[in-house]
Amino acid sequence: MSFKPKSLKSLKSLILYAFLDQELFLLLQDRISRSALINVLVETWFAHKKEQVNKLFQIDAFQEFQNTLKDSGGKVYTVEELNSEDKVIVRDAAFRKVVVSVYNYHCAFCGLKIITSLGQNIVDGAHIQPFAEFRDDRIDNGLSLCKNHHWAFDRGWFGVDERYKIRIAQNLAETAPNNRALREFEGESLYLPNHELYYPRIEALQWHLETVFQQASPDESLFDQIA
Ligand SMILES: [Zn+2]
Repeated sequence: MSFKPKSLKSLKSLILYAFLDQELFLLLQDRISRSALINVLVETWFAHKKEQVNKLFQIDAFQEFQNTLKDSGGKVYTVEELNSEDKVIVRDAAFRKVVVSVYNYHCAFCGLKIITSLGQNIVDGAHIQPFAEFRDDRIDNGLSLCKNHHWAFDRGWFGVDERYKIRIAQNLAETAPNNRALREFEGESLYLPNHELYYPRIEALQWHLETVFQQASPDESLFDQIA
C-alpha cells in the first residue's frame, strides 16, 4: 500500500472491498484467536501507545456489558461471579448507566432531569432490593432517582405500591420552603421507563414497602419540634 489514509473515513472512501485469507477469516470467527491477534497487532504496531489502546478496550468492554445488560434485562449474580474486583466495578457502572437511560435521565419520584453539555446528570441508578444482599442487577430491580430521593428511598421515607403510586412515610417532619415537600407526592404516579419491559418489578417494590418503608405512625413530639 503506497498511501497512508489518516482516518477511517478516508480509508473507506479509498477502498471498496478487501479479501481476507480463508484461514485468517476462520481464525477471526473465534473470540480467543481474535484477542490473541489483537494482542500481536498492538504489540507490533502500537507498543508505545499501549496505555491508550488498553483504555479504548476498557471502554469497549463497558459498552459491550451495557448492551448485553439492556438486551437481556440484566441478571442475578452468583457469589463466585463477583470475585473479580474489575468486573464488579464495570457491572456496577453499567447497571447504573442503563437504569438511568431507560428513565431518560428523569428522577422516577419527582421527574427532575438535569443534563450538562459534559453529559453529567443528576440521577442515580438505585437498586430497589440492595445489591449487597440480592446481587440482582436486573433492570427491573432499578429506579432512576435524584440524589435526595435516592437517599429518601434507601431509608424508606417513601415506597411505591403495586399500581406504581407513591406512598410517603407518616413519620417525617419536613419543611421545604423552596421545594415540593415529600408528603405532597403521596398517591402520585411514579415516572416510569420508556419501555414496559423495564418497569420496576412489583415484587421488589413490595419487598421494599414491607422491609424498608417506614410504616411508623406520626411522632407528635417530632412535629412540635420543627413547627
Ligand atoms: Zn427526585
